Amino acid sequence: MFNKFILVVAAILCTAGIVRAQSDVQPCATDEHYRQMLEKYPQLAAMETQFEDQLSKRMAERTTAATDTTIYDVPLVIHVIHDYGAENLSDTVLYDAVKYWTTVYLKQNADTADVIPTFVPYVGKPGMRFHLATKDPNGNPTKGIVRFQSYLTSTADDEAKFGQWPQNEYVNIWFISAFGSSLTGVAAYAILPSTVVFEPFYDGIICIASYVSNDKTIPHEMGHIMNLSHPWGNTNNPGVSCGGNDFVDDTPPTMGHNGTGCTAAALYDTTCATGYEKLYTSSDGTMDSLVNYPDTANSQNIMDYTYCARMFTKGQAARMRAAITNATGGRSNLWSPANLAATGALTPMQDLPPVPDFIMNRGIPTTSDTRAYFLTTNCASSFVFRNASWNDTITSVSWAFSNGATLPTSTSMSTVTNKFSVPGWVTVSLTATANSGSTTLVNTQAVYAADTTPAGGVGYTQSFASASDISNWPMFNYYNNQFKWEFYHGAGIGDTTCLRYRSYDSSNRITGNAVGDKDDIYTPAFNLSGTTGNLYFNFFTTSAYTRHNIGSGTTLVDDSLEVDVSINGGASWARIGGYGSTRLYNNGNYGIEFVPNSATQWLPRSLNIPTLYRTGETFFRFRYHPGNTGNDLYIDNMSIGTLPAGVKEAVTSAPNTFNIFPNPSSNGFNLVFKTGNDGIVSYNVKDITGKVIYENKKVFNANSVEQESISRSITPAAGMYFVTVTIDGVNMTQKMVVY
Ligand SMILES: [Zn+2]
Repeated sequence: MFNKFILVVAAILCTAGIVRAQSDVQPCATDEHYRQMLEKYPQLAAMETQFEDQLSKRMAERTTAATDTTIYDVPLVIHVIHDYGAENLSDTVLYDAVKYWTTVYLKQNADTADVIPTFVPYVGKPGMRFHLATKDPNGNPTKGIVRFQSYLTSTADDEAKFGQWPQNEYVNIWFISAFGSSLTGVAAYAILPSTVVFEPFYDGIICIASYVSNDKTIPHEMGHIMNLSHPWGNTNNPGVSCGGNDFVDDTPPTMGHNGTGCTAAALYDTTCATGYEKLYTSSDGTMDSLVNYPDTANSQNIMDYTYCARMFTKGQAARMRAAITNATGGRSNLWSPANLAATGALTPMQDLPPVPDFIMNRGIPTTSDTRAYFLTTNCASSFVFRNASWNDTITSVSWAFSNGATLPTSTSMSTVTNKFSVPGWVTVSLTATANSGSTTLVNTQAVYAADTTPAGGVGYTQSFASASDISNWPMFNYYNNQFKWEFYHGAGIGDTTCLRYRSYDSSNRITGNAVGDKDDIYTPAFNLSGTTGNLYFNFFTTSAYTRHNIGSGTTLVDDSLEVDVSINGGASWARIGGYGSTRLYNNGNYGIEFVPNSATQWLPRSLNIPTLYRTGETFFRFRYHPGNTGNDLYIDNMSIGTLPAGVKEAVTSAPNTFNIFPNPSSNGFNLVFKTGNDGIVSYNVKDITGKVIYENKKVFNANSVEQESISRSITPAAGMYFVTVTIDGVNMTQKMVVY
């Protein structure tokens, strides 16, 4: 009988404490996550000690039990977080993967034959079987696989763990395309049972999809779920010191092997293990037994990083079995008969109806921007619809397209290339058929075929007075989330209506970081051909930021608005302007949702439209990139004209004033003024000495806004000048700076 052990440290050469190699990229980020949790929740250390105490008692009991052959059944749910790329793993791949994970946990993986002789006696059997759930948390039938489209699949972290099912009922596994910059080089990580209590909503495994069947990545992470540490301990780094502890006796001390590969040096590494043995004592203090463990590191251990993982040890198996029979992290509930019944883990999977789905094809290069959702009716480019139906048993599909489609119907299982002759939102119906029946998806706003008839040209104005005024301004919320464009009733310049981008988020953002999302609103076509001189795309914005989303002291760089132009029917877009950070936010910090209530809160925005883009069929697009710091952005009074935004509005609302733009300038000036009752306007330019160097007098329509230009030749020398305008006998003077 023994209930205590002491470690014989004679052969342990290095006893350094926690050493962190910052530049060291590790394939599993479980330790890093654990360290962050320890920093955030210091009480974790005490809880950990208590948990280890319970576990060692439990392990001792189990070791002494004559036969412990219980097999623990574990319900799983797999969340495929994808953007329709290769990370959208098929059901078949996942079914096969789950089966394989079970063989490893039953010690039935064939490659245990490769275990070096030293460790053959130590190969352990955790005794667990994994089952995709057949009932979801609401009791509805499921295949235990959930698919969710998100931009976060390519910059994943905890916030990509969408839609967790109760973590004490299912082990949640999320597959993603790639981790974000804070997890560079990481393949996967998992949450240890003792840390679950602090952030239960992140419990589970998150793994890059391409590692689904890569050298036991998931069995390794499942080891962490069942409380295994890396053999070098979870507060250590591999390759740094021998001093770590994984609380498992038959995994000899090791520094671990990261990036070394499965070399002979790694396989027969004795650096930390030479002379390794353990003395177990009885409760009365007398020696009970001395066990001489191998003097070689167990580099083929699934919890090492050698990428020749073959085995768990018996001690690790015992530790996992102790964890799954302990309430910490809710692990002991997973295999309870009641939970197995509720999750349908042991019930054969039903044949469920297919799920019809499609996506616009990505072009080359494979960036999300190359997905076309907006093209004109006569565009040389085509829409490409790609079938993404799933549930694995699909035998045929049937497509139907509205809007005078070139191909009104199709049965293509892959892609359909199509054009539309009738402008407006295109309805796409997709029926997927499988042996269990057919399901039809009807998407009434699948893509937008834009009218090529210009909505206007120079002088066009849009005050967003009603939603019907912008029925030909299609809005796209590509990821179908809370960050989106909308017609807004409740604010505006001179009225109470405008456009709004909803960037304010009142949720506590456990999942769904905004960074990486983007949303578009497109204008109708404009005829700008033949226009010369300055031509402006004008609009007004007002916005604020939300400090509580970013913490104090963080810079405001995240949200941005860009304006793009297209002259080939939406096939490609060029950026003509953008606003971010302090150039975007003009109303400071709002802890609540920002709604403007005064005209003074609005900023005029003007973008000169390059001559290249002045065609008979020019489109514009507002694209918003939310970034966690934004509050709502409002847009109103869009116009196309020869005056920049604000200039005309200022003189219209305040007679007896005039505007000079641009100022300063090196290339001449424009005067903008509102004429008086007789329409007569005279103006002169004086140099710095007060000498009149130019004067002019003209008759315009009465009470109208007019513009005059002053060429650079009038003010050849750089410096300051004065302009005096006389209207209805009133003189007004302003400075003008030439450089
Ligand atoms: Zn790990």
